[in-house]
Amino acid sequence: MCAVAVASSMSEGVERFLASPKQLLINGKWTGAANGNTFAVYDPATGNEIAQVADGGPTDVDAAVAAARAAFDAGPWRTMTTSERGKLIWKLADLLEAHLDEFAELETLDNGKPFAVAQAADVPLAIDNLRYYAGWATKVLGSTIPISVPFAPGAEWHAYTRREAVGVAAQIIPWNFPLLMAAWKLGPALAAGCTIVLKPAEQTPLSALRLGELICEAGFPDGVINIVTGFGETAGAPLASHPQVDKVAFTGSTEVGKLIVKAATGNLKKVTLELGGKSPNIIFQDADLASAVPGAASAIFFNQGQCCCAGSRLFIEKKIFDEVVGGMVDSANSIKVGPGKDPDSQMGPLVSQEQFDRVTSLIESGLADGAEAVCGGKRVGDQGYFVSPTVLVNTKPEMKVVREEIFGPVVTASPFEDIEEIAGRANDTNYGLAAGIWTRDISKAHRLANRLRAGTVWINCYNIFDASLPFGGYKESGWGREMGAEALNNYLETKAVCVQL
Ligand code: NAP
Ligand code: MG
Repeated sequence: MCAVAVASSMSEGVERFLASPKQLLINGKWTGAANGNTFAVYDPATGNEIAQVADGGPTDVDAAVAAARAAFDAGPWRTMTTSERGKLIWKLADLLEAHLDEFAELETLDNGKPFAVAQAADVPLAIDNLRYYAGWATKVLGSTIPISVPFAPGAEWHAYTRREAVGVAAQIIPWNFPLLMAAWKLGPALAAGCTIVLKPAEQTPLSALRLGELICEAGFPDGVINIVTGFGETAGAPLASHPQVDKVAFTGSTEVGKLIVKAATGNLKKVTLELGGKSPNIIFQDADLASAVPGAASAIFFNQGQCCCAGSRLFIEKKIFDEVVGGMVDSANSIKVGPGKDPDSQMGPLVSQEQFDRVTSLIESGLADGAEAVCGGKRVGDQGYFVSPTVLVNTKPEMKVVREEIFGPVVTASPFEDIEEIAGRANDTNYGLAAGIWTRDISKAHRLANRLRAGTVWINCYNIFDASLPFGGYKESGWGREMGAEALNNYLETKAVCVQL
């Protein structure tokens, strides 16, 4: 089933990679799915098939978990020195860097995003994230604690804590930043000393599988990182409910996040979730509009709007509403929409037919509810899943387009009067992932930042990420944080050791 149509513009590395059907990585070996099935992966710019990938199911999940279990319980990973573990993570980052353009090309082909974006953002951020956590491997510290024990007068004690790996981690990731989401998950888990079963999204498994080749090349012991491609219901769900998995880390929709929580109850595995958002982006009239307007456009249109933290609810202080909306329309109309491999393209297609249908039907629901599209709202071209950048005005707070995550290049813009009003409206959402504030008044900015119920607040900037900065959600945007020291804690248990001297 590997009759793959290889476009002539592909690099040698990508062509080689796509020439064979893609298999699962279990216990250091590449293997087909137990059921013998494969599924097709498509180029969203054309809708053409680009690869066949193993359709992993419950039997493969069992094998992958058993390999991860053995590598953790008896294997070399837990007993390896932290310095050796750190070096391996660093080596993986070096290998990724050596293949930076190839990975950017794979992301473009699989996800649709512009090559220049993958080359400047997705892949470098993934490399940086791995290096950041390589450094953490040697810095997982416990503490010594002076204890008093009132019921044992005169006794002497030595008490301390150890921070230990939680065990086998299942990591289920989405399609919007396929490689970067893999790196966000792998880095902290590896630094903590966990072993892993990674399930990439069905739409975009290719960069994770190519990363699997580099994992083998770097010399990670067998079973430390296993990769099972497949569908949510048949590969993701058995991982989330698996009794031998100690922790599940999930990024994706809030809807599936709730299913993960239920699936995890069987053995009460630890759960972290990075879910959806409907993030407010707030522009005050005293903002530097020369940066706020393009900033607000980028906040929503970056990655075709397929960002969990997209600034999808734009709030503009009344006096400058028309001016800012005009600027947004100009920005939207100036964006060149086209295939990600075309160097002129600034915005690619949505990831899939399903996502295209979802985004366009939400736009239609907004128009039917009385919103007005001042630009965009349409399909671009007649093949692939391209949608033009869209700005909706005349929205009402109860409309679906204002309440639901669209995950496409669609922003709602509405005016506000003052800081009190906007604090309430910004927080009027089930989500709480991110927020943006644009103003020259530093006190106002911080005062509002304190009021916003969101895991990240960007002031006079948007979509700024760093491996050391925690990222995650309040409310239905999730549990726990990615990146920074906080993500490491997701993969650690604390053990108290108490010695009577
Ligand atoms: P999704 O279904 O939540 O997918 C995320 C991951 O979970 C994928 O690997 C998926 O596998 C897996 N999965 C699905 N059902 C599962 C289950 N029952 N048990 C365990 N794992 C399961 O997201 P989607 O369907 O691709 O996108 C739908 C919407 O989710 C988007 O429109 C957007 O609103 C939101 N989303 C959010 C993020 C984010 O970063 N927060 C990312 C992507 C999407 P499959 O690939 O086979 O489905
Ligand atoms: Mg899905």
